[in-house]
Amino acid sequence: MISVETARSQIVAAAAPLPAEQVALSQARGRVLAGDLAARVNHPPLAVSSMDGWAIRAADCQAAPATLAIIGESAAGKPFDGNVGPGQAVRIFTGAPMPAGADAVVRQEDAERRGGEVVVGTAVPPGKYVRTPGLDFAVGDVLLRSGTVLGPRQIGLAAAMNLVWLPVRRRPRVAILSTGDEIRMPGEPLGEAQIPGSNGPALVALIEAHGGEAVDLGIAQDSRQSISALLAGAAGVDLLVTSGGASVGDYDLVQDALAESGFILDFWKIAMRPGKPLMFGRLRDIPVLGLPGNPVSALVAALLFLVPMLRGFQGLPTDPPLATARLGCALPANGEREAFLRGSLAFDADGMGVATPFDKQDSAVLSGMSAADVLIIRPVDAPAAEAGDKVRILPLESWA
Ligand code: AMP
Ligand code: MG
Repeated sequence: MISVETARSQIVAAAAPLPAEQVALSQARGRVLAGDLAARVNHPPLAVSSMDGWAIRAADCQAAPATLAIIGESAAGKPFDGNVGPGQAVRIFTGAPMPAGADAVVRQEDAERRGGEVVVGTAVPPGKYVRTPGLDFAVGDVLLRSGTVLGPRQIGLAAAMNLVWLPVRRRPRVAILSTGDEIRMPGEPLGEAQIPGSNGPALVALIEAHGGEAVDLGIAQDSRQSISALLAGAAGVDLLVTSGGASVGDYDLVQDALAESGFILDFWKIAMRPGKPLMFGRLRDIPVLGLPGNPVSALVAALLFLVPMLRGFQGLPTDPPLATARLGCALPANGEREAFLRGSLAFDADGMGVATPFDKQDSAVLSGMSAADVLIIRPVDAPAAEAGDKVRILPLESWA
């Protein structure tokens, strides 16, 4: 058995960043930038008003109230093209260019229009309510860095930078092969000893949630022929994930079928609970992650190894975002396998996280996996712990 850490570093090493491709702004959400992006425009491009009001010369309003002659109007997109001289004002709106000669804006609520004149009630310093050119950014400013995940805010910024095509990492294509004579497609009529396959749909969702493209190869029977036949669909993917066939007897079957196509095994037992029978190797140049069949084991192993691979392919940091909480109850000493207990996370009066493992920790209890807020991590050979002791947790909100 190898440790979770050793396994993860070997597995992640097989997930180097994929090449870049260009996508349009409208296709960029959730993608990861593959290069730094520099602004192609100044923002704002020229001095503009940040208020509705009057563009004036600050010197004219030092001794408010001051009465100024209205000489025109500047609206966003329709600038006033004259010059504001002493004793003059121009009606101006938010985002409208400042007319030449004016150096400040008086808010409309601080002035009163009287026919062709405006009476300014307060003095304003030069520059008041004026956004200077490039206040936000200037041409050439690098505002978005390689490795940034593009969410709504970053996409808005890229658009404001006048960019339309963005270089992003190609999505990792991941094939999923479920195995098991007893596994059926969800919704199918079930024989007495048959169960709906949950690993396939869960893995598809996990892969897509983490920026990958899932290729569901379906459910193979427990025979070399059936497994080999479906494996053909994995050609050209970046990663093959299998589920099931990991118990001692079955295990040889998946490996045998893979071996026919040139599979080389790196390792297949990890000191973790759930999820010990995890297999990793290569099918020619495709990394293969063999997950156990037990739904909880499969998902926990996917969180610890598959998600880091998906992130590695996209040039993102691969370490799970562990945090610290206090235990909500006592726990017995842990054995030789690192344990990942499904549990809830609450916050005490001081805002400190309190993680409490669920009672049922069987690796077939998918309801607990679904309800969990966190995985509570118990290191190899951890001594018994009391309620209130600090524990490491993997919060699932951003990771699963
Ligand atoms: P195996 O690794 O094939 O020995 O499977 C271990 C356990 O996981 C068995 O109880 C299987 O029925 C169950 N199992 C295997 N594959 C799936 C799947 N795709 N969905 C749900 N349960 C599964
Ligand atoms: Mg099986």
